[in-house]
Amino acid sequence: MARCVALVVAAGRGTRLGGDVPKQYRELDGRPILRHSLAAFAAHPAVARVRAVIHPDDRDLYDKAAAGLSLLDPVPGGAARQDSVRLGLESLAGDPPDWVLIHDAARPFLSNALIDRVLSALERHPGAIPALPVQDTLKKAAGGQVQATLDRTGLYRAQTPQGFRYNDILAAHRAAQGQELTDDAAVAEKAGLAVALVGGDDINVKITTPSDFERAGSRLAQARQVRTASGFDTHRFKPGGDHLMLLGVRIPHEQGLDGYSDADVALHALTDALLGTIAAGDIGLHFPPGDPRWKGAPSERFLIHAANLIAAKGGRISHIDVTIICEKPKIGPHRARMIAKLCEILGLGSDQVSVKATTTEGLGFTGRKEGIAAQAMATIEMPALSP
Ligand code: MG
Repeated sequence: MARCVALVVAAGRGTRLGGDVPKQYRELDGRPILRHSLAAFAAHPAVARVRAVIHPDDRDLYDKAAAGLSLLDPVPGGAARQDSVRLGLESLAGDPPDWVLIHDAARPFLSNALIDRVLSALERHPGAIPALPVQDTLKKAAGGQVQATLDRTGLYRAQTPQGFRYNDILAAHRAAQGQELTDDAAVAEKAGLAVALVGGDDINVKITTPSDFERAGSRLAQARQVRTASGFDTHRFKPGGDHLMLLGVRIPHEQGLDGYSDADVALHALTDALLGTIAAGDIGLHFPPGDPRWKGAPSERFLIHAANLIAAKGGRISHIDVTIICEKPKIGPHRARMIAKLCEILGLGSDQVSVKATTTEGLGFTGRKEGIAAQAMATIEMPALSP
């Protein structure tokens, strides 16, 4: 298989979108625009390496955007896009790939299928670009008046990633230095390289204007995936003690709960529900009982760990609902503190946190006051694209 490197061009200063950072670092669905395409290439099995070309002033922004992804170090770009691409290509010369995919950071919606189409055409052609036929009628105008209707036959809108044989496009860029060409296919054409068209993708838009940005944001928001999961736990009362912990709140009680940590049965059920939303196993997998680090540990730590795992996947907690099942202690007097505590730990509003209590009418182990049970439900939203 040919070895392919993706070069993501992100050295522009574009602030037409507003905001105080260049547009490729503006956040879309909670992550910088640049990260979406870096992550897509990094996850593609046929792309061996990924390198971004950045503005030297943006190193901190880049490091944040690329955190956790396995990428080549970025290289500094030049004054114009064409210079940046050439410098990016030159940076690969020491270990030249067979193919290179050149992509604009402002197109965050590239799909695996689109990358596949470009790579597949490179098997047979020196260059390949995704493109869409022009559908609208084209008018030539001046001073707000139509002067002519142009023939749109054979006209296409070019997108990225544009793929080339590496040695060919490097030579073409060296030869085209100083000319102002708007994409790499134009550089290839100047050098006489044949460039094939493959089907572009309507969703692979270039984010340029504030309305592009808004449309992209609402598209991603609509595509977020809602997930729910449940958790359940039980702890028995132990003889003696003067308090127990429930949802992080200390409640005076003549019996404590038995357990390796602080035995906060309700936080354990909630932690399991959160872990369930991302299919990350259960609390025992992450915090094995018997590990001296968790002896007497506040169960808040387990909850924070689960919330961090969700955040690392780009997920957001929408709602949690906990039911505590016991005859004693009475939960009502402590409910407001419990809700406030969960809001504080998870950064949620009080309308996103539900705490309920019930008895079992004297039936079963909770009815006999042998212990407390808790069940929880968590609902989260996951991003449409991988983080
Ligand atoms: Mg437990």
